[in-house]
Amino acid sequence: MLARICAIVIAGSVVFAQPARRTVTLIVTGGTVVTMDAAGRVLTPGAVAIDGRDIVAVDAPEAVAGRFQARETIDATGQIVMPGLINTHTHAPMVLYRGLADDLALMEWLQKYIFPAEAKTVSPEFVRAGTRLAALEMIQSGTTTYADMYYFEEEIAQVTKDAGLRGVLGQTIIQFPVPDAKTPSEGLARADAFLKQFANDELIVPAVAPHAMYTLDTATLKAARALADRHRAPVLIHLSETADEGKTSREKYKVSPTQYLESIGFWGPRTLAAHGVWLSQADIQILARRKVGVSHNPESNMKLASGMAKVVAMRTAGIAVGLGTDGAASNNDLDMFEAMRQAAFLAKLQTNDPRAIPAKAALEMATIQGARALGMESRIGSLEAAKRADLIVVSMTSARQTPLYDPLSHLVYTTRGDDVKTTIVNGRVLMRDRKMQTLREADVLAEARTFASRVRAAVGK
Ligand SMILES: [Zn+2]
Repeated sequence: MLARICAIVIAGSVVFAQPARRTVTLIVTGGTVVTMDAAGRVLTPGAVAIDGRDIVAVDAPEAVAGRFQARETIDATGQIVMPGLINTHTHAPMVLYRGLADDLALMEWLQKYIFPAEAKTVSPEFVRAGTRLAALEMIQSGTTTYADMYYFEEEIAQVTKDAGLRGVLGQTIIQFPVPDAKTPSEGLARADAFLKQFANDELIVPAVAPHAMYTLDTATLKAARALADRHRAPVLIHLSETADEGKTSREKYKVSPTQYLESIGFWGPRTLAAHGVWLSQADIQILARRKVGVSHNPESNMKLASGMAKVVAMRTAGIAVGLGTDGAASNNDLDMFEAMRQAAFLAKLQTNDPRAIPAKAALEMATIQGARALGMESRIGSLEAAKRADLIVVSMTSARQTPLYDPLSHLVYTTRGDDVKTTIVNGRVLMRDRKMQTLREADVLAEARTFASRVRAAVGK
């Protein structure tokens, strides 16, 4: 578009002034801008111009100031500006079970503590309170998009929207009776209604979340896939989290979980498999061919001693591997900076190669690769014009971050969620200088403590 030229008439003579600058809603300027774009551009310093929900320019501060004037400016001097983090696997309301039962294997943890606690405590009110607490923690630690699998997902979606976060939210379908559905067909009907309720939403991508191949029969898995196809919705599923799951699958179906799901026509694009710890090379090839994304959850996998996912092999095969925290009951927080650091460390330990997942790769997994894994890379995951304005400003001046030679190294190896100063989603500032704009922090914490007393009573703690 040609720049408009202002002609100003002064005392009878015409003076041509500077080209008129376009007025935009927000400019974040002066910080080191880590774009995570395909060229890996880092602008020192840089600026991001935002109009409404979209990024309109990412450039040097003078270049942005020459083209745009902002209604509001955020000075990011001495800080890093980067894409908001994308948590590809969590169960948001489970923050209310944080620290309830630790140091147990997955099946014992699930069957003795989590499933019984859920049966007694999960309700729409519980889910809303838990999601508010999770949203508070995510905004405070720089997550701007998250993928979720839980019950009463419509409540989660509403709280997520009110908090201003972006979510790929999956209504869970499971074979046994759960708090929001007595049967899998009831779960499917709930998922259908949820997909209709949040279709074409600006912040929420509604999804179908069949829990796992070991908690569902073949007919329900096929029905979940068909439902997602009818709505062109994403599918979220747990896959090969433990060695036991593989054993069960081989006993029942003679093949691995991935091969079984392939044999029933379950795999397809816009599908995200969480964990993928026990995948064979043949499984990895199937997922790559079917363009299935994978969420790697290193902290949960280590804490539950589930195993080590072959992240390098998956990335080499071309699979989009995102990073997740998993539910806070098995992590025990939603800090994606810690997830990045642990993903890098675990891969190094696993392969005896410190180059296995370098800082840049860990950052990619938490941003642009997470976006790819969710099929959203054209909208989020990097700071580029025409993408949605989902970004964070991260402080880089603490003792722990001094001196600063390499911003990418610092983001992965020394930064924590608490270092995030400002969080912006869809052009809206959700936290400014650590002050929450969309949630009342004290109220959210008080409400969570009230529900915790119900959890304590339910499990006799
Ligand atoms: Zn999970």
